Amino acid sequence: MLQWGVIGASTIGREWMVPAIGAQPDARVAAVASSDSERGRRYADALSIPRTYPSVTDLLADPTIDAVYISTTNEWHEPQALAAVAAGKHVLCEKPLALSLEGARTMVAAAAAAGVVMGTNHHLRNASTDRKMRELIQSGAIGRPLAARVFHAVHLPPHLQGWRIDRPDAGGGVILDITVHDADTLRFTLGDEVAEVTAMTASQGMGRAGLEDAVMGVMRFRDGVIAQFHDAFTAPHASTGFEVHGTEGSLYGRDVMTQRPIGTVTIRREGGEELIPLEHENLYERSVRCFNAAIRGEGEPAASGEDGSRSLAVALAVRESALTGRAAQIAGD
Ligand code: NDP
Repeated sequence: MLQWGVIGASTIGREWMVPAIGAQPDARVAAVASSDSERGRRYADALSIPRTYPSVTDLLADPTIDAVYISTTNEWHEPQALAAVAAGKHVLCEKPLALSLEGARTMVAAAAAAGVVMGTNHHLRNASTDRKMRELIQSGAIGRPLAARVFHAVHLPPHLQGWRIDRPDAGGGVILDITVHDADTLRFTLGDEVAEVTAMTASQGMGRAGLEDAVMGVMRFRDGVIAQFHDAFTAPHASTGFEVHGTEGSLYGRDVMTQRPIGTVTIRREGGEELIPLEHENLYERSVRCFNAAIRGEGEPAASGEDGSRSLAVALAVRESALTGRAAQIAGD
């Protein structure tokens, strides 16, 4: 039985990841570390987590912990992941992996050197919808992909209107929160890397301290595909979607950029339109299942540390382009 330690008494942990780890037949959440002991204890009680630690150092010193899930605010991911790796723990880390590309690469290299598994919790590549779109593209169902469109503007719910909208030092802003997921979804489904991006941001009433709460832009992939994206915290009535248009057909993913196992995929090509059958599965449970298998030496995490590093590189380039008003290249390989 794999023993997980949860670093950060977070909302995502409470709503999705602690239940997802608990749903595995081969794993349990054994402990949580919070910087606030009282809040950590309440969190542990509510989620039936046996042990609470007052610090990450204490949790990492627990020899029974095999793997950690890090979901603190973004500025903590890098130091906490490096400490976990140094303690010999496998690390499943939230996105963005770090605040700098150098930081993310250091994390990936440290995990490889220590021989521990490192993954990034990019949930969307666990969605049956995104996986089916990747499968259809790779089997040639739409011919050569030419363009993609990502609709990922949402309304940030009141209980999450904290550091995301007013703390640049914590990696706030919609780009590090949502665009980073778009980059991963596009890389995953298209099977290609982003070469350059151009973007514009806006502050539409939610973002403070100079943080953007909306962004639109275009990513150009190495093989020529252009992908348009719209991410926002400020669109209460928008629905999400993901389309890929190819020489022989188009894929329409509706309600697919979401945490919940919902959404549809339709293919339209000569001869008509077809709704693709899907078997939905909890995205986070699949993420943990793949990670646990990787620990046992059976396959890879759904999204690796390298994937997290690459999605961060794209997000940072989007931010750079919005700041400079010029296209930004993705930092080299
Ligand atoms: P939260 O704001 O809920 O939690 C982040 C940290 O804030 C916690 O680790 C906790 O620190 C502290 N905290 C929590 N509640 C309080 C409180 N009431 N008062 C003061 N501090 C508090 O963040 P999210 O869960 O929204 O996001 C956490 C991470 O997960 C981020 O990196 C985010 O990008 C990522 N995320 C990923 C998603 C995905 O689908 N992959 C979805 C949502 C978020 P401590 O434990 O030390 O007390």
